[in-house]
Order: sequence, then structure tokens, then C-alpha cells
Amino acid sequence: MAVVYRSSRGRGPELGFSDVLLTGLAPDGGLFLPTAWPSLPVRAASLPTSYVDLATQVIEPFVAGAVEREQLQAILVDAYDTFDHPDVCPLVQLDEGHHLMELFHGPTLAFKDIALQVVGRLFDHELERRQQRVMIVGATSGDTGSAAMEAVRGSRHVDIVVLFPHGRTTEVQRRQMTTLSDSNVHAVAVQGTFDDCQDLVKAMFRDEPFRLRHSLAAVNSINWARVMAQIVYYVWAVQQLGRGSQATTFCVPTGNFGNVFSGHAAARMGLNVNRLLVASNRNDILSRLMETGEMRAEEVVPTLSPSMDIQISSNLERLLYELLDGNGPATAELIAGFRDHGRAALTGAQHQRLTDEFAGDRIDDSETLAIISEVYDAHGMLIDPHTAVGIGVAQRHRRPDEHVVSLATAHPAKFPDAVEQATGVRPDLPAHLADIFDRCEDYAVLPNDLAAVEDFVDGLSVDGLSGDGLS
Ligand SMILES: *Cc1c(COP(=O)(O)O)cnc(C)c1O
Repeated sequence: MAVVYRSSRGRGPELGFSDVLLTGLAPDGGLFLPTAWPSLPVRAASLPTSYVDLATQVIEPFVAGAVEREQLQAILVDAYDTFDHPDVCPLVQLDEGHHLMELFHGPTLAFKDIALQVVGRLFDHELERRQQRVMIVGATSGDTGSAAMEAVRGSRHVDIVVLFPHGRTTEVQRRQMTTLSDSNVHAVAVQGTFDDCQDLVKAMFRDEPFRLRHSLAAVNSINWARVMAQIVYYVWAVQQLGRGSQATTFCVPTGNFGNVFSGHAAARMGLNVNRLLVASNRNDILSRLMETGEMRAEEVVPTLSPSMDIQISSNLERLLYELLDGNGPATAELIAGFRDHGRAALTGAQHQRLTDEFAGDRIDDSETLAIISEVYDAHGMLIDPHTAVGIGVAQRHRRPDEHVVSLATAHPAKFPDAVEQATGVRPDLPAHLADIFDRCEDYAVLPNDLAAVEDFVDGLSVDGLSGDGLS
């Protein structure tokens, strides 16, 4: 059975996987969703026991018609070969009834690798079939850029340009982007903020001649294929813990709502999920939505868990569409109201359905540091600040007989300052990054100016992408 997709805003045609993959955002501005959810085997015991085999089985129906099973398996083998743990997403026990699933064993040390390593290869596969070439452009405040670059480095069909705010990332984050030697990846430090970088990317997409000239593409967190690839580890956790017949709760450090939506998708496919705990830092629009049934935007405040410093979670639109019974125009109206007025309310019945499945809470920076220190004292384990936010919410909300799996979304060495502040211990980088401070950096520094950035991108094509055009 091949899944087909439609937009959350209800307009436009139903599309197959390859178009959904390459387009990212639906033409009407909505997000793609399957028109029907494929089913998992009812018994977790009958699921395969290697991560790649499980991923093949879970992902196959979503890509059917675009990728053959053998090709899919080869892509997944290759993608997860880049991980430094044989289980890909290993589970460790924290307390009775509380496990941690480590999602940070990929090349850039954050959970985004799990999806992007697959998505990069799916892009390559489809572009090879179409004999096309695209230019991915993106903005990053730190984590996504390196994960996307790492995912497409060396591709013959994809070039990637990532804009990051000059002087505003950590040194590790910058070096993860600037020390890749492949000629198809380009890091650009913009003399501005992350918002300036994002505005430049949006402006490049709006410049139609430029967009067409370079076949611009995006791999941001609204791409369906990323949500799809993340469904696998929810199934993996249940299967590894042998809990197919007992319901499991997941606690997810949340920003754009992509990760936790994948947990919801797993439940829609039949996984025995009890509830989903949405963990936020001070930027807590989601926990306020759970409490009140109303979304109300506030200023973004910087925290120790910067990948969750988001007020408008783009993937939430997918859940709203489901809460509105698949009514695209009503979803579009709700989103437009929120954009225009900074607030939008669910009906009582919709709010009830939301809280039947989800609960949310917030953890501030001082609590985050306290949790990092407690976990270190109790288990001798270093955790990163995003993971700490999740563990804190899980501890606060776990009911006596509830089994919770908290997701560890980044390696502690990616946020060494917070970890050291909490524990006095500076976490070591894993072996494959141990020499990152000795590697040569290669990146352009550009003013916050559209013409300058577009000239730079035009120059890459003229140079024939020889890879020596960067200063
Ligand atoms: C991106 C990110 C998150 C947030 O994930 P969403 O899918 O956007 O909710 C949480 N933790 C880390 C470390 C991240 O990089």
C-alpha cells in the first residue's frame, strides 16, 4: 500500500512521496500529511530486532512507489553506519519505570542526525533518478545546519549553503560547519542575528529568478521525511523494552514539535503509547496551550537549551489539522488568526482531545542545572541541558505505575559550558570529533545583505563548484 499525502490546509493535489520529499512545504503553505496511516504489526514481538531492519519495515509504506525496499534498506544501512553505537538509539535505565533513549550517537551529536542522514540520501536517490541537481539553502542557530551539511556532504546532486549568525554560535557548533572539506558544502557567517539569516533565506526563496536558476530546496523541520524517519525510534523503544502489550509514555524535549509529532504518528500507526509529555524551557507556549486550550505567542527568551528557544512551533500545524478532524480550510484559518493576532483558541472538545494524549510542562534554567547535577550525582552520567528539561518534566509528571521513556536529544559535549557549570566536569567530545579544534576552517563572512549573499551563491555555480571559492 503506497501512502499518498495532502496538505494540512486542504488545497492542492494529493502527492506521492518523492514530490513531498523535494517540495518540503505544500504549495498552499501547509504541511504534508499522509491521507491514511499505515499500520504497524500488532505485536511488537513480531518486529525485527535490528534498528535498520525495523526502520525499513516502518518506513517502507511511506515511500512505496518512490523507493524500492532493497534501495531503502541500502540507504538506511549507509545512514546509520555513520552512528557510533551499534543500537543506533540505545536505551539506558535511569530509575524504576524511567528509561532514557539516547538519540545523539550520530555525526553531529544531536537527534536531528537520525532523520537528516536518511533524508540526505533520499534526496540523492530521487535526484539521481530525475537527473536533477538542487541547491539547499538554510539558516541555523547552531544544530540543524551542521546536521544538514553532514547529511549531504559529497553528494553529486546537492549543494548546500548554510547561513549562521557570525560570532553567535558556540565554537564547536561553528567548527562542525566550517571544517567539512567537501566541495558541495558551504558555510556562511552573516554579520547579523539568526533572524536575519532566516529572513535572507526566505528572501532568496521569494526571488523567483534566483530560486529557479539554482533549483533552491530546503530540508527544514517541516519536511515530512524528517518526521517519518523519527517514528522509528518510538517503535524501537517499545520493542527493546518488550512493552508491546503495556502502554508506554514518552517525554520529549520540544521546540518545533517535529520530534513529539513523530511519537503521535507512531501512536496513530498502532504503537501502544500511553501519553506524550511535551517538555519546554521558559519558552512555554506549548505547555500553556495544554493548560488553557489557547495559544498565545510571547517574546522568545534565550535559555541554556537554545534548540528549544521557539515560540511558534511549525510542526504543531500537523496536530491542529488532526484535532480539527482533517479540515484543511479550518486549519488554515486557525493558523492565519494566530499569525495575525498572536493568539488562537481551541474549542473545549478539541482541547479535551489534546489533553487526552498530551501533557506539557516547563523547566527553567536554574532547574535545568539542578537536574544535570542530580543525574550526575545519582548515576555518574552527564546529560545535556535539552535532555535535562525532558527528564525534569518526566520526573514531575510520572504517575506511580507509568513507564516513561525520556528522549536524550543532544550529547553533553555539544553544550559543555552548561554541563560544566552544573557538575564541574567538562564532557569530552567523542573520538570522531576529538580533533575538531585542530582542523582547518573554511567559510565566508558576508554582510547582512541579500545581494551579497545571492552574489556569493551565484559565484559558486560559476566556479563550477570547485570548492576553492571560499575564503
Ligand atoms: C531540534 C532540537 C530539539 C527540538 O526538537 P523539535 O523536533 O524541534 O521539537 C530538542 N533538542 C535538541 C538538542 C535539538 O537539536
